[in-house]
Amino acid sequence: MTKRASQAKRPNLDSVTTINQDGSRFFLHPSDVSGRYVAARRFAAILLIAVYAGLPWIRINGQPAVFLDLFSRRFHLFGITFAAQEIWLAFFFITGLAFLLFFTTALFGRLWCGWACPQTVFLEHVYRRVERWIEGDAPARRRLDAAPVSGTKVFKRVLKHGVFILVSGAIAHLFLAYFVSIPQLYAWMTASPREQFGAFSFMAVSTGILYFNFAWFREQLCIVICPYGRLQSALIDEHTVNVAYDERRGEPRGKLGTEGAGDCIDCNRCVQVCPTGIDIRQGLQLECVACTACIDACDAVMDKVGRPRGLIRYASEQALEGKPTRLLRTRTVVYGLFMLAGIAVMLFSFSRVQPFEATVSRMTGQPYFLTEEVVRNQLQIRLVNKRNETAAFRVFLEDAPPGMQLAGWGEAMQLEPYEERTRPFILVQPREQYTGRARLDIVVESEDGRNRLRRRAEFVGPDPRVFQ
Ligand code: SF4
Ligand code: SF4
Repeated sequence: MTKRASQAKRPNLDSVTTINQDGSRFFLHPSDVSGRYVAARRFAAILLIAVYAGLPWIRINGQPAVFLDLFSRRFHLFGITFAAQEIWLAFFFITGLAFLLFFTTALFGRLWCGWACPQTVFLEHVYRRVERWIEGDAPARRRLDAAPVSGTKVFKRVLKHGVFILVSGAIAHLFLAYFVSIPQLYAWMTASPREQFGAFSFMAVSTGILYFNFAWFREQLCIVICPYGRLQSALIDEHTVNVAYDERRGEPRGKLGTEGAGDCIDCNRCVQVCPTGIDIRQGLQLECVACTACIDACDAVMDKVGRPRGLIRYASEQALEGKPTRLLRTRTVVYGLFMLAGIAVMLFSFSRVQPFEATVSRMTGQPYFLTEEVVRNQLQIRLVNKRNETAAFRVFLEDAPPGMQLAGWGEAMQLEPYEERTRPFILVQPREQYTGRARLDIVVESEDGRNRLRRRAEFVGPDPRVFQ
């Protein structure tokens, strides 16, 4: 059962602040904070949310900028269309991204978590904002938690959770738009749930999950579920630049005016603003999502007491000990090289993506036919036009055995935008030139001659000695 916090709780390194001794939840109410990092993160969040909300609406080459069309097994990314057969490219994309994450973590810690992870972006910049608008600042929210049921409390709670559900629904709908496109999504939204029960159920469940996560589960996702936080100790070292407390400068902490005290006046402000409920003065911890709130909070305190900013700042362990920070070191070089290799292979592979796809296969049934004059094989070609414009294709043979001809094709085949068509054709070789099984290339070329694909095929027949 959740125990709502009527007052702040002192963090310690032996337990997770947000989980009580009996396993129940301690619900945090981080205080409001403002400052240069909060402003920069808010700007980044607005930009990221705008990109997330905008991509399904922006059209490039007649398709949404990002459209993962699972029904047609086509993936449109910024004007390039990929067929299902090209899904292997995703391996290089994901590998490159993973090493980019490793690389930035080795250099700057959990930059991703604090600045760009959807969990932080939506929680800190949407849901918590709504909560603050409706229920007030942290002390007001704690008071409301502790207050008995009243008209005001019910009104505020219903309003807050109503807005949370609406926002969760909007995020879930936008997510679905990446897979079905905005027009299809609109059609489903305006149809009766009974007509679109599958889509309706998906939306209801995903909205429910988002609502549960952002209204209640919150920082638990980062602390309990996300594997990335656990990886950080393996990715960082003493040169990694993290959000850190300058112990040499701050300790021994003591109230303002205490004789011999360091710069930390033990005001606890850095703890009050922390969305995961930790005390950064106890060192780098798994729960820290590098949100920078404690930097801004402490800077404001330092401004007030007339001491230099940066008691909590981005710094490496080395820098805090007064030693130089090295950005270039074995792990950053290795992660960097892997990242560059992944990106290079990905770009190379993307550059070789053709605007059409062709697959050659053998027709079912008898593998070959014999007549008085020829040996004949029946094959078929499946062509996919991946462009948003009509295109025509020629098919011909290369490196074919002597006398072999491709019959049944004739004129170039015209395909409508994104059309997929399968067409049979015949390979024929005169008996007198047949010398047994042979391999050959079937070439598919766009009518303008700019793109071509080569597909290997095998011509089969009887043992040639039967003709002697
Ligand atoms: S906000 Fe700064 S001064 Fe206040 S307790 Fe934290 S580190 Fe010390
Ligand atoms: S310790 Fe500071 S940077 Fe880390 S999560 Fe808490 S407030 Fe954010």
